Amino acid sequence: MRTVCALKSVEYGQPGIFRGHVSFSNPVLAPYSWPLCEVRGATPGPKLCVSAGVHVNEVAAIEAAVRLQKLFDPDHIRGTVSIIPLINQPALYKYSEYVCPIDEKNINFSFPGSSRGTFSDCLCDAIMSEWCIDADCYIDMHGGDLRERVSHFTIYQQTSDTSLNRLARQMAMCFDAELVVGLPTSHLSKPGRPPTGFAAKQRLALMSEAGSNGLLSEDAIEFHVEGVLNVARSLNILDTKMTEFRRARVSCNDYLWVTTPADGEFHATVEPGARVEKNQSVGTIRDFFGETIAEIVAPQAGWLLWRITQPSVPSGSSVLAIAVEEDQPTMAGP
Ligand SMILES: [Zn+2]
Repeated sequence: MRTVCALKSVEYGQPGIFRGHVSFSNPVLAPYSWPLCEVRGATPGPKLCVSAGVHVNEVAAIEAAVRLQKLFDPDHIRGTVSIIPLINQPALYKYSEYVCPIDEKNINFSFPGSSRGTFSDCLCDAIMSEWCIDADCYIDMHGGDLRERVSHFTIYQQTSDTSLNRLARQMAMCFDAELVVGLPTSHLSKPGRPPTGFAAKQRLALMSEAGSNGLLSEDAIEFHVEGVLNVARSLNILDTKMTEFRRARVSCNDYLWVTTPADGEFHATVEPGARVEKNQSVGTIRDFFGETIAEIVAPQAGWLLWRITQPSVPSGSSVLAIAVEEDQPTMAGP
């Protein structure tokens, strides 16, 4: 990994605020560099890496990554906070939904990546093995691409390591989320999100999601900013008080994608964050005459994680996802 200082920056690795660009050693990534702000305290301590812009239209997360740079004071933190506000550099000014335009892969489902794969694979590998190599925790912020509305939620990965699970869950609970989703261990067998790719190597990463339709929502920006600050407090990078939680932070241990059985126009009847019962109607698919072609029902009880907002949707595509709540403890009967 190579760094180049911008104006008003300390040398990389020195206490203070580094601002500049980072480039990675893999030649596949050579045409690009990434903006990097790294705040290093005079006192050694943990390292927290934070990113956004894997999906370039999820602008509330990108704005949160920009604002966070000014919220860590090197004179008052322990350790290091390192921030890359826009990961998917090839998509910048192209407004690509979900994918990296170089290989059409979704970076978000390419972790842990590979140094010998395509651009997205190499980038995931570089994030893990260069930028985040000494990170105690990595947080990738998302939420609200052009055609979707998401609840306020966080994702961590469950593993067979109970102490890593406990830590990951504790950090995911630092966000004022409606839903906190611990992905089942079945995710570990294939490429996935950062929490999955990192957990496959016994390391800690989280995702935070909030936002809708590519909008700069203050509510979503605050969700990401406050959540990252709370993680920094939990890691003892900051010694200020945790913010108060207003949302329920319902623990979930899986989620289900729900697809449409027919081409048509999707009209939702429930919004992200809402509770749904099994077989409850959550929307309809209509034709261009306004006639209902299909009813979309919840396959299981749970909570609406996200839904699409652009109604036109082809058969077999996902229209929403439902997070499944963890088994409740059995109530002792009389
Ligand atoms: Zn995203």
